[in-house]
Amino acid sequence: MKMMKTKDDLLDTKGVTVAFTFPTPDFGPAAWSCADHDDPDVFAPTDQVALEQALAVCGSCAVRDLCLELGVNRDEWGVWGGVLLENGKPLEKVRQPGRPRKVSAA
Ligand code: SF4
Repeated sequence: MKMMKTKDDLLDTKGVTVAFTFPTPDFGPAAWSCADHDDPDVFAPTDQVALEQALAVCGSCAVRDLCLELGVNRDEWGVWGGVLLENGKPLEKVRQPGRPRKVSAA
């Protein structure tokens, strides 16, 4: 007898680092709009152009809410559910590498 998976089971999925390479099995790959995307690197964006490209794909994704919940619950990095996450927290824009610039107090 086949057991139905609950939403908690889906959120417990281990080993998923990026949705498009290892989608949660309960959804066919077609449900994940980023599956088979030409440039999966845009979902780990290093600039605003890549971020905008990823967000455009997420905009029509059928599993967007679940994807975001997965990303937040597992402290993920990159674009999940149409949101750029860093350690599971939303970011407004892509961080540039290096130390933040010092601001003089004078
Ligand atoms: S919401 Fe975006 S990152 Fe998540 S599965 Fe859909 S297209 Fe991929």
